[in-house]
Amino acid sequence: MSDSPQPAAFADFKLNKQLLTAVAEAGFEHPTPVQEQTIPLLLAGHDVLAIAQTGTGKTAAFGLPLLMKVKYAQGVNPRALILAPTRELAMQLESHLRKMAVHTDLRIFAIYGGLGPKTQIETIAKGVDILIATPGRLMELYLKGNLVLKEIKTLVLDEADKMMDMGFMPQIRRILEVIPSKRQNVLFSATMPDKVSVLSEEFLEFPVRVEVTPAATSAQNVTQSLYEVPNLLTKINLLEYLFLDWDAFHRVMIFTRTKEHAENVASFLKRKSHGEVRAIHGNKGQNVRINAMEAFKAGEIRFLVATDVAARGIDVPQVSHVINFDVPLIYDDYVHRIGRTGRAQHTGAAITFANEAEMHHMARIEELINQKIPLLPLPPEVKVMETQFDEQQGMDREIDERRRRDDPSFLGAFHERKEYVKPGVTIDKRTGKTYKEGPNRSQKGNKANPSKKTASKPAVKAAKAAMARAKRRK
Ligand code: ADP
Ligand code: MG
Repeated sequence: MSDSPQPAAFADFKLNKQLLTAVAEAGFEHPTPVQEQTIPLLLAGHDVLAIAQTGTGKTAAFGLPLLMKVKYAQGVNPRALILAPTRELAMQLESHLRKMAVHTDLRIFAIYGGLGPKTQIETIAKGVDILIATPGRLMELYLKGNLVLKEIKTLVLDEADKMMDMGFMPQIRRILEVIPSKRQNVLFSATMPDKVSVLSEEFLEFPVRVEVTPAATSAQNVTQSLYEVPNLLTKINLLEYLFLDWDAFHRVMIFTRTKEHAENVASFLKRKSHGEVRAIHGNKGQNVRINAMEAFKAGEIRFLVATDVAARGIDVPQVSHVINFDVPLIYDDYVHRIGRTGRAQHTGAAITFANEAEMHHMARIEELINQKIPLLPLPPEVKVMETQFDEQQGMDREIDERRRRDDPSFLGAFHERKEYVKPGVTIDKRTGKTYKEGPNRSQKGNKANPSKKTASKPAVKAAKAAMARAKRRK
């Protein structure tokens, strides 16, 4: 690469007037760092692997050079293909790219599942220049014969880390087999887990790698804070207390670990009439999700409650707060979640609620992002509730699993402990005192079960992988 100074204006790129006008109309004054670095490379025809955190303007980074290359409407079959992991993301890419292409005649179209293919097939038949697709729907229409892919000259994989998380590798391999091998390849990702390295090796040719920030550094303009909250009911009380401040908490995204928590939080907020609220998660229908996103973007609703899968990659400008009602077990998701606030030029706040089991995960997340998150005392106005039996069991189990991970010979105190712990007795599990295993005990465990493997849940497995990655990064 040349060592001439980086351009500081969009006009320095070899983009045409139509695109520069659209960029100006979008209110983009200066290219973001990832745009500054990747746009010239992509315009020069390189394969590019770009890693930059959420909210840094990756869409325009690959979008502008792509629009420049495809240039104007021609023929019927798509000449560029962008793969995205979810339908929300596909739709968002479509609208973002159409905005940048507003002064061209380019036909940009997104196909995705969740609704019948009929309209999509009809639109494709009329002619598309840039096709955006989720992998499943793409193969479906291709195999039906409704889609000709032999004119594809550029392939973009957006949110590659998410695609790998969602297990799209086999589908991507099949897609690579049916599109022309002579093409430009582009891979964009917020983080760089091992699976993305594998993918990039299979798919890119002599790529130039652009890494704007360390893979898991959280957004710089986000204020982060943490509350240790003993249980679910107290978390609800803390939410209620915080949300009394309407001015500050005007557009809030609340993340939960499970669909059930998302539903519970949403219905609680509804009951308390704290303002309009919607929930999005995997069980929600396509239209419900789209409507919720649109209403949230338009500022018509105050709260959007979401699971990680439903929310990844969605661009919601100017969110005042991200609340982590639960700590994510896939640690990278923490970075993705807080990337929802403090986007582009805005500052935002991310507040995390962690119970005693989750406090351990927070410690790991702090290692991952290489940042200490200030722990705030629970405000005295917040009523502390008693922990329900089931919830306590769940937390104990999680703590046990963590101990097993740290020490594979540990058999788990959860079942044994039930025998001697009186109900109602509180134990400080974070200090580990109650659980402390003598060397004899763990040796005995080893002998009794020399080959015992820890059966971990998928989420825990993933978290483990994230931890290993975090370690390697150091
Ligand atoms: P990413 O894909 O990296 O998560 P997006 O491409 O979705 O990020 O962009 C995030 C937000 O930043 C969008 O609202 C987008 O319009 C805005 N944005 C992108 N580039 C610029 C720029 N150069 N100046 C100002 N805002 C920008
Ligand atoms: Mg993006």
